Amino acid sequence: MNRLVSKVRALRAAGGLAACALGVLAVGASFVGGPRVEAASAAPLGHPGKLTYSGEDTQGGWIRGVAPKGTVSLTLDGEAVGIDPQTGAWFAAFDRDAKPSEALVARMADGTTIEQSVAIAPRDWHIERINLPMHKGGPSAAFMKIRQPELDQIHAARALATDAQGWKQRFIWPVKGRISGQFGSQRFYQGIPGAYHTGIDIAPGRSGDPIVAPADGVVILAAEQPFSLEGHLLMIDHGNGLNSAFLHCSQLKVHVGDHVKQGQVVANVGMSGRATGPHLHWSLMWKDARVDPILFTGPMN
Ligand SMILES: [Zn+2]
Repeated sequence: MNRLVSKVRALRAAGGLAACALGVLAVGASFVGGPRVEAASAAPLGHPGKLTYSGEDTQGGWIRGVAPKGTVSLTLDGEAVGIDPQTGAWFAAFDRDAKPSEALVARMADGTTIEQSVAIAPRDWHIERINLPMHKGGPSAAFMKIRQPELDQIHAARALATDAQGWKQRFIWPVKGRISGQFGSQRFYQGIPGAYHTGIDIAPGRSGDPIVAPADGVVILAAEQPFSLEGHLLMIDHGNGLNSAFLHCSQLKVHVGDHVKQGQVVANVGMSGRATGPHLHWSLMWKDARVDPILFTGPMN
């Protein structure tokens, strides 16, 4: 493997959730506001069923719909999409680097399939090009001895499936303040890409402001002992593969296993871990896809 590529990968592996710790990122990525799609095209001729959806069909965005009667399973680009057994409601999302289209495929009880292509609009990410070499060398062995167990806890938390139903809700802002770092921003060092910013940074201007749950969920990780990069890290599962991470908290108000309601205070803003000032770094993932929180909340007002 190319040495530079392996260094980038090592840095990314060490970065975990705290990619923002690699530098202060400027604001400027484009924002796509409001639901962009209302309905999809009809199913292939001759099939009575069709797949309709609405949402934000763009990189870092999401879609939701109701599966037609008789749907046995649904996949997006080969990834299983959970379907609510009572209502048929489903939810899926697109990674920051999603391809221009992904296949949505429903398998029906009668053995037929409905397949349609979902067009995913590209985003114009804020990119900074810097004529300096990327920081030399990967993380030290001493650092990784502390870091690896933290990464293991994060990965184990993400692997948990809970009965949370927050994925059905419209999200609210966990805290309000200046957006000091946008999702997806990235630096290139002499052409070599650094890790992109995996969440949104919100700086209310001081430590201690309450952080509320943006949607219903179940606490899947609460770092009472601060992690080396994320500090007091709180992770909440919203169900159906969707989860939130809240970094740099000064204090956590909930424990692993707690069910939280949208709007409930779960932590306080701080600067624990690697942070240059008090702010909340909020990141959202759907399965392995990193998604943009602002596309779940709409603009702050
Ligand atoms: Zn951040």
